Amino acid sequence: MTSPSIVWLRDDLRLADNPALRAALDRDEPVVVLYVLDEVSPGIRPLGGAAKWWLHGSLASLGERLREKGGELVLRRGPATRVVADVVEDAGAGAVFWNRRYGAAEREVDGGLKETLRGDGIEVASFAASVLFEPWTVRTGSGGPYSVFTPFWKACQALPAPRAPLPEPRDVPGPGSSPASDALDDWGLLPTVPDWAEGLRETWEPGEPAARARLRGFLSDDLDDYDRARDEPAAGATSQLSPRLRWGELSPYTVWHETVAARESGANPGAASRFLSEIGWREFAAHVLFHHPDLATKNLRAEFDAFPWPRLEPSHLEAWQQGRTGVPLVDAGMRELWRTGIMHNRVRMVTASYLIKNLMIDWRRGEEWFWDTLVDADGASNPFNWQWVAGSGADAAPYFRVFNPELQAQKFDPRGSYVREWAPDHAAGDGPEPLVDLKASRAAALRAYEEVKQAA
Ligand code: FAD
Repeated sequence: MTSPSIVWLRDDLRLADNPALRAALDRDEPVVVLYVLDEVSPGIRPLGGAAKWWLHGSLASLGERLREKGGELVLRRGPATRVVADVVEDAGAGAVFWNRRYGAAEREVDGGLKETLRGDGIEVASFAASVLFEPWTVRTGSGGPYSVFTPFWKACQALPAPRAPLPEPRDVPGPGSSPASDALDDWGLLPTVPDWAEGLRETWEPGEPAARARLRGFLSDDLDDYDRARDEPAAGATSQLSPRLRWGELSPYTVWHETVAARESGANPGAASRFLSEIGWREFAAHVLFHHPDLATKNLRAEFDAFPWPRLEPSHLEAWQQGRTGVPLVDAGMRELWRTGIMHNRVRMVTASYLIKNLMIDWRRGEEWFWDTLVDADGASNPFNWQWVAGSGADAAPYFRVFNPELQAQKFDPRGSYVREWAPDHAAGDGPEPLVDLKASRAAALRAYEEVKQAA
């Protein structure tokens, strides 16, 4: 009789540097690799459309690779607590392994399951794999969490260096007969009518092999120039690793060590450190989410609850979503997002600032739209950055710092290449009329902010 091990994958859709998979293999029993689509457990945020598209591709790739290694990917849908217990029973499993998550609802599910399974005599172990520095390991002098990035990142760097990544296993032997699996196509993760994913298909190839190839390409071709060109949306100078990290096709440990190795073998040290500090912002967002589980819905700074948001003007929100605000850089960014599922960081800041401070629309409406349309939509980084732009968040830009989209375009897209690519009508002087006057709307937002200051 065998007693298979279950590896329950979540935000770690990879075979290399996967400590849960390694632990399962080390048990020397057949391995069942399981993914559960859980859209029903309380507090678990249902995936947006672009994220579902990515998930489909990534699972398809993973399933194929597991088959090549003698295993199989088992897909199930439903509340994770019940589904994992069912699969344990179906497989006659003796152990379950997973890599940890940091959102409150996710931790609740995982903690409950750990207790139940252990009560049933099943071995359970969880591991750090999705962040380099788990939130509770980074503490201020007084033992609390950090709320400012620079000291946070300094404290991380004073901790022992992240462990070396684990190699990809050669084989992942499955049981003779695997527990029943749903068919991926039956999950309906891909859009059908209308099929809005053409631009996503043209832009991306989900899956671990493409993720590793992109990391290698970035480190050999782009890293040296990262520091100088990372803010120019037309330069293509950033890594484009965010969806890979979001879905865990690539481990941050691998990114860390390969970047350090590139630096040691002669890459521009300033650029390498700058790149690693961006990985640090991802760590910081996870840290803040862990300590503020309501990050996506509640202002971190409570005085922002007094912000007098005007009544929502749905036509303004729609114009922003569709890239018809009349502001070239904003429209270019929003159209890039809709077409490709991604937007350059500088343009994310500008489009978010415009929504919040020129259209005076609550940051949560913007966060929801990004959640639905980004392939890298992340439960920590997305709300964290929206609150950063709004001024209501941790270590945030002050509210009164209103990005001027025209000056931003002059500075970061001086030849207009980005606007020409994504909003050619604007480049030809034929774009939509401006929805609002930039100067007057900025002044109105600053007046509204006075109420926040009084509540502080
Ligand atoms: P690079 O410049 O190559 O950076 C390397 C990696 O560092 C990124 O892949 C990402 O994992 C991380 N990173 C970089 N900047 C940040 C940041 N500010 N916060 C957190 N991590 C960062 N990033 C997401 O991964 N998911 C999101 O849902 C998300 N939503 C955002 C919403 C707004 C309003 C803003 C302003 C930013 C958001 N970001 C988000 C952060 C950032 O824009 C993207 O991570 C970056 O544009 C991805 O491109 P890249 O991989 O080429 O980045």
